[in-house]
Amino acid sequence: MQKRDYYEVLGVSKGASADEIKKAYRKIAIKYHPDRNPDNKEAEEKFKEAAEAYSVLSDADKRQKYDTYGFEGLNGFGGGAGGFGGAGGFSMDDIFSMFGDIFGGRGGGFSGFGGGFGDIFGGRSGGQGRHASRGSDLRVRVRLTLAEIQSGVTKKFKVKRDVQCAHCHGTGAEGGSGDVQQCPTCHGSGYVMRTQRSPFGMVQSQSVCPTCHGEGQIIKNKCHECGGSGLTKGEEVIEVQIPAGVSEGMVVNVPGKGNAGMRNGINGDLQVVVTEEPDKELIRDENDVIYNLVLDFPTAALGGTAEVPTIGGGKARIKIAPGTQSGKTLRLRGKGLPAVQGYGYGVGDEIVHINVYVPETLSNDEKKVLEKLRGNRNFEASQSAKETIFDKFRNYFK
Ligand SMILES: [Zn+2]
Ligand SMILES: [Zn+2]
Repeated sequence: MQKRDYYEVLGVSKGASADEIKKAYRKIAIKYHPDRNPDNKEAEEKFKEAAEAYSVLSDADKRQKYDTYGFEGLNGFGGGAGGFGGAGGFSMDDIFSMFGDIFGGRGGGFSGFGGGFGDIFGGRSGGQGRHASRGSDLRVRVRLTLAEIQSGVTKKFKVKRDVQCAHCHGTGAEGGSGDVQQCPTCHGSGYVMRTQRSPFGMVQSQSVCPTCHGEGQIIKNKCHECGGSGLTKGEEVIEVQIPAGVSEGMVVNVPGKGNAGMRNGINGDLQVVVTEEPDKELIRDENDVIYNLVLDFPTAALGGTAEVPTIGGGKARIKIAPGTQSGKTLRLRGKGLPAVQGYGYGVGDEIVHINVYVPETLSNDEKKVLEKLRGNRNFEASQSAKETIFDKFRNYFK
């Protein structure tokens, strides 16, 4: 099916403000809300379509990418393990969990993105409520060599995370369904309607049920394994595909591999933060790598070949032209790093900076040879040679 333009979906102009976008989304979401349209597939599709559009247009970074490149620009954000999280493939639970603030409360996971510092330390989000909520995100670091960054790599992480309690299957009740009762206040819906008089007439508003905190149920006898939270600690080995071209500080998001949500809410994400392992010989400069070659004087003067290291421990042979000066740079095309998919195109180069080595100690014979050469015209540093070297140096840093 052809995807509709996100602005068209929300019925706003390209220049719409964040507030206009939010209002437009709210209107559509309420109109096609599943509570109002039970068992209506078409309404559900419209509801999901609007949520996807809103997830992009409400995020300044994604909106800009979409404005510039269209749907293509969002490819790097695509769902699925190893992607960068975000748009595409929403479930109803995702929508409620992500944009709960728009609706102002309903049973399913309305605590938004958890928030608080518990996220970083792997704590549980929310805490005070017993209602279903999204689990918190977990963070791990990965150290990558240039070779791993060049090719992309699969890494395994042993992650301690909250998982659904096996004893109560996440319900938090000891004795199964007999211990769970429908909330007498809201009769299981999780929210209560209030009718208030206002200057514009009678206004109805929804709020989270004060008795069950939106869960719709009350537990009479709590599970002895998890104390009623429905969660226990588990350890899991998780394989993560790190794409080629990543750099220091980038985050690879693995949806659903963070902590489990309470009351069978949706899982948080596992966030893998990239750290670059410094290379012994090569220095990264965005997608290029730089190598400082120290060249012996005879090869610089007479010409010849030299060996330079490349990413991954290999070597490349390069040609040295006769009369090569310090400060000269050579470019090995395509020997650098690729751009991260969706963030650019092409592959960087390896740039070789040449410095000519002057011997620090000389034998008597060597001294004699050089003394003889000292007076020769070709060995005088001419003004034009000085300028050429200086220009090359300056141009490189421009
Ligand atoms: Zn339990
Ligand atoms: Zn209730």
